[in-house]
Amino acid sequence: MKLFTLALLGCAAAAAAAGPSLSAQRGPNAPQGPPVQVTVNGRAWTQQELFQRNIGGPNDQTTAFTPHKIIGNIYYVGTTSLSSFLVVTPQGHVLINSTYERNVPAIQKSVEQLGFRFSDVKILLGSHAHGDHQEGDALVKQLTGAQVMAIAEDVPALENMKPGGKPHPIDKVLHDGEGVALGGTTLVAHLTPGHTRGCTTWTMKVVDGGRTYDVVIIGSLGVNPGFKLVNNTDVPRIADEFAGAFKVSRALPCDVPLGSHPGMYNMAEKFARLGKGGPNPFIDPAGYKAELDLDEAMFRAVLAAQQKAASAANR
Ligand SMILES: [Zn+2]
Repeated sequence: MKLFTLALLGCAAAAAAAGPSLSAQRGPNAPQGPPVQVTVNGRAWTQQELFQRNIGGPNDQTTAFTPHKIIGNIYYVGTTSLSSFLVVTPQGHVLINSTYERNVPAIQKSVEQLGFRFSDVKILLGSHAHGDHQEGDALVKQLTGAQVMAIAEDVPALENMKPGGKPHPIDKVLHDGEGVALGGTTLVAHLTPGHTRGCTTWTMKVVDGGRTYDVVIIGSLGVNPGFKLVNNTDVPRIADEFAGAFKVSRALPCDVPLGSHPGMYNMAEKFARLGKGGPNPFIDPAGYKAELDLDEAMFRAVLAAQQKAASAANR
């Protein structure tokens, strides 16, 4: 039963496992109320459904998705529900998201299936300090020698992530707006906190068919079930931080939306359209806006429900 619950919680369970301060943000003390539901672009979602869309089932988290070129020099090498991206340059590669440690062999295989060498990964980045995105960092570093870089605000949570007791490697601490350059490609780290303190949205430009496109890799704008937005003693300004992340995200130019979970950009549906003629399906600026609208509507609805529950409790 315990295992089932953990598998279901995924990202949130990883957060709880990261340390007592994070786990204090969840659980029975979180204000309870009726399930929060929003309707955006004609589709209704509960908070739980949106969370489930992202993390998928246990098999989705560990089964490699067909590795593929997305656009320009960026490739997909992750599983069905946990994204991992490979940015290929003449001076080696950047890997974004090691995901769970047990997935690292599958990621390595996907990289090799695309004709690249895993040992050419020079830099390892991540979306945010939850185990389903960054637990495998130590193993990737061990296998490739890559430099692991993370935004300062996520460093404490990453340092709590020690699979098998291995310390989490951090070779360089980054700051909001800083660029990571390799072989002519620069990835820029944008601090989009809320989901974690240092949740990072990565942007880069790719050239494809003689045109330049803006790529945005959403770190996460999701409010996991049980997450405390009100009376959060560890992060009192959590709701303001979250709101700021939406502001930052909306200001980013985006032609190609990607995200730490493939559900954030409808990967499977776009992948099915690849090579069938017409423009590259991953070029989808409207999809980026729709995802922000959905995530922000859910955030606002959860915040309102928790504020209502908190003021009722105070009466
Ligand atoms: Zn997460």
